[in-house]
Formats: sequence, C-alpha cells, structure tokens
Amino acid sequence: MSIRTSVVWDYAPAPESADHVRLRDRYGLFIDGDFRDPVAGTYEPTINPATEEPIAEVAYAGPDDVSAAVEAAYAAQPKWGALPGLERGKYLYRIARLIQERARELAVVETIDGGKPLRESRDVDIPLAASHFFHYAGWADKLRYGVNAREVAPLGVVGQIVPWNFPLLMAAWKLAPALACGNVAILKPAETTPLTALLLAEICQEAELPPGVVSILTGNGDTGSALVRSNKIKKIAFTGSTAVGREIQAALAGTDVRLTLELGGKSANIVFEDAALDQAVEGIVNGIFFNQGHVCCAGSRLLIQESVRDEVIAKLWQRMRRLRVGDPLDKNTDVGAINSAEQLSRIEALVVAGEEEGATRQSIECELPERGYWFAPTLFTDVSPAHRIAVEEIFGPVVSVLTFRTQAEAIEKANNSRYGLAAGIWTDKGAKAFEVASALQAGVVWQNTYNHFDPTAAFGGYKESGFGREGGPAGLRPYLEVVR
Ligand code: NAD
Ligand code: MN
Repeated sequence: MSIRTSVVWDYAPAPESADHVRLRDRYGLFIDGDFRDPVAGTYEPTINPATEEPIAEVAYAGPDDVSAAVEAAYAAQPKWGALPGLERGKYLYRIARLIQERARELAVVETIDGGKPLRESRDVDIPLAASHFFHYAGWADKLRYGVNAREVAPLGVVGQIVPWNFPLLMAAWKLAPALACGNVAILKPAETTPLTALLLAEICQEAELPPGVVSILTGNGDTGSALVRSNKIKKIAFTGSTAVGREIQAALAGTDVRLTLELGGKSANIVFEDAALDQAVEGIVNGIFFNQGHVCCAGSRLLIQESVRDEVIAKLWQRMRRLRVGDPLDKNTDVGAINSAEQLSRIEALVVAGEEEGATRQSIECELPERGYWFAPTLFTDVSPAHRIAVEEIFGPVVSVLTFRTQAEAIEKANNSRYGLAAGIWTDKGAKAFEVASALQAGVVWQNTYNHFDPTAAFGGYKESGFGREGGPAGLRPYLEVVR
C-alpha cells in the first residue's frame, strides 16, 4: 500500500484564549426569569475534565425547586401560547442572534466544561445551536404547514433532559421546537456540563423572553427523575442512556404524558470495495473520533468489505496515528479530554473486555497530559459480532472492525443490533447506496459522509435507540396537539 506522504508536521501550540470568558463563581437555578438559590441549598462544582480543576459551583435542584419551576412555567404558558406565531418567532430569532454574538465565549465554555476540542465547539456545536433556533424561528408562524395543514395547539409545560456530549446543541434541539410551538420548557442539563445552558439562561434574559417560558434546572439524575414525575408536565423529551430512557418510559406508562426518547446507538459505518477509500477513511475518522466518540450516532461498528479490508485498515491506522490528542483549547487538537472519570472507566472496562474476548487492540502512541481524563484513539480488529465491543455502546474513541463479503451480508450485519440510530454507506454507486439505505433500520443514513447534522433534517432512532424525531418539520410534531 502506498502512503501518500511521509512528511511529519510539527505544530506550535495554538491555544484559544479564555481571558474573555467571565463566569460567575456560583450559579443558581433559572426559574421565573431569574437565578435563585435552590430551596435545599445544595451546590456542586463542575470541573474541567482536561485539568480536573473546578470551574464554577452549580445548584442542584431538589423536588421543591422542580415544583417552583413547574408552577412558574404553568403560569407563563397561556400567554406565550396565545402569542401570534410571528411574535414567538421574533424571540427565537433574538436568541439565535445572541448565541452568534456570544459564540466565542460559548465555544470556550463548552470546551472547558466538557473537554471537546475547541475546533468542534467553535465550528459545530455553537453554530448549529444558533441554526436550530433560526430554523424553528421560521416555523413559529407556519406550524400548521408542518403538520399537513391541520389545526394545532401547544401541549403546555414540557420537561427536557439532556446529556453531556453536546450540551448547548442538545439544549437548542429541545428548546427551539418546543418554544416555536407555543409550549414553555424546563430544561435539565447534565451534571458534568451545565455551564452553557446557564449562559443560555442569561441569553433568554437578554432577549427579554417572558419569565417562566424557559427554566433551567441544573442537578443530577434525582432532579431529572423529579421533573419526569411532576404534575402539570405534558411531555418529556429525553436524550441519554438507554437504561435511563427505559426507566423514564416505565415511570410514565399509563399516564397522559407524551414522551420522546433519543437513546444510545451502535451505528454501522459500511465501506464497500468500490468506495473512494481515502475519502472513506476521513469519514471513518470523523465518524468515530469526533467529540472523542461521545456521540450517540458514532460510527462505532466499522463494516469493511473483505476485498479492501487490509487496505482500509492500513490507511485508517496511518491516519489515526496522526490524530493529535490533548489540550482541548488548542486549535490543532483533534481529540480532546474524556468527559468525566466515570465515562473514562466505562470506556476502559469495555476495552479490557474486548482484549479478553480475543479481539486485537491497537491504540495510538501519544503523550497524554498528566492530569485530566484521556483515552488514546483505539482500533479493534479480529472482532466477532458477539463480542461486547461489537454489541455495546462504548461512547469513546474506540472503533471495532467487522467484515462482510456481499451487500446482503452487509445489511444483515448492520441491522444485527438492538440499536438503530444511524449508519454510513461508502460507495461510488448511487443505486447501491439507495438500495442499502432503504434496507437499513436506522433513523439517519449518511452516504459518503458521516456525522453531518442539519436543522432541517429529522434525527431519531429505530428499536432501542428510541422513538420520536427531532429537527425539521418532523421535530414539530412531538410538541403539538393536532386539534382537527
Ligand atoms: P444518563 O442517561 O445517566 O444521563 C443523561 C441525562 O439524564 C443527564 O442529564 C442525567 O442527569 C439525567 N438522568 C440520569 N438519571 C435519570 C433519571 N433516573 N431520571 C431522569 N433523568 C435522569 O447518561 P450517563 O450516565 O451520563 O451516560 C451513560 C451512558 O449513556 C454513556 O456511556 C453512553 O453510552 C450513553 N449516553 C448516550 C447519549 C446519547 O446521546 N444518546 C448521551 C449520553 C450518554
Ligand atoms: Mn464540567
């Protein structure tokens, strides 16, 4: 196999400055348009996973705080829901513009709170969060056209629980459609990444959003659990682990609370022998190492056609060895810090299981900082479909390679999962791509690209990856009652 260049590039460090960021030492709960202390008074630090240093203290909401937020939201909803859509849209436009204005600050805070490379928070998370608000701002006065010209009404108060992998972006995915449809929302950020949601609360104030329309309740699983169980909530939207999703679904069974779940995945990235292999390798890298692999739709099962297996693996390994792991604030960094000590130990446990079950592990050699949570990009070959690393979500920078001979086998193997969130297809043949895509049980299928997100496109799962769609007109439906 020929390697196109053997030149080694040296990079000087290019750290983004964090001097312009002004965080408070301590953040209360955002209820009824203002920050307040939690009733039971607990605060916990959120740390920078790249340094293990505390950044700020954040309130943990208890049941009384949840009730207060629900009451404020319930009081605010009728007026918000009765506003002409055009007027609600103006608020959403304002929020979108303010996110753009504060983009640099939001990107740095996202990176120090969660560990993702600044290049990603700056170029993906924050701009996409703004575009979700822009997109749904446009829908606010056209709701019925998103639902086959039927007459629609808001649901009321909705509770939204988000994970730590795309903190501001997930907040935007949840809040923008809910507000556009005339609902009011209570958002529960994840414990390790609450800060950008709290800055979003400040943005809601700057946008003069009426009090109670958005509440931000920081806290842990108990906070989320109390929100799920509170009276007057009409809908819960959850993104996170399948285990918690299942627990929430059980808690809401038999009630009239609507639910959408966006859960885990073990998505297949399928490389056919006729694909442009160098391009495919870039897509494989983006599919699994983007955001340290903390991506629900990560291309974590790499399916390669046997005839090109050796070539793809050799090219992939060459490419992986050039990934730069380290300081997330450095603009040259490709792979940042693992989000938390807990997540690092989950990844380590699954990787050990992969070795014990007989797969071959290769991790790139790289100098890792002394403090913080890190995991070197890792490739597993000789993986059997029954291995835990081929079945379970690792949610880290670890890719498992499987092979196939025929198109039918590729489809069968890709669908052999209890999950069905996304898939990638790499081929030069358009007809083959469409044929395979329509046979895959996956909510999103990318052709010759991966991890490509757009506010106009629906996102969501099959099987245990959950139900309901977010994004585009399909994302309006879970937040609307069809009246007639
Ligand atoms: P999690 O499901 O525990 O947390 C997600 C959110 O739910 C957080 O805001 C959390 O506080 C909240 N929560 C936790 N318990 C709750 C409960 N009983 N009721 C209501 N809300 C609750 O996820 P995690 O523990 O942070 O991560 C575990 C695994 O989940 C990861 O290794 C990964 O495999 C998967 N995960 C998937 C996604 C995704 O985008 N699909 C996101 C994060 C994690
Ligand atoms: Mn943090």
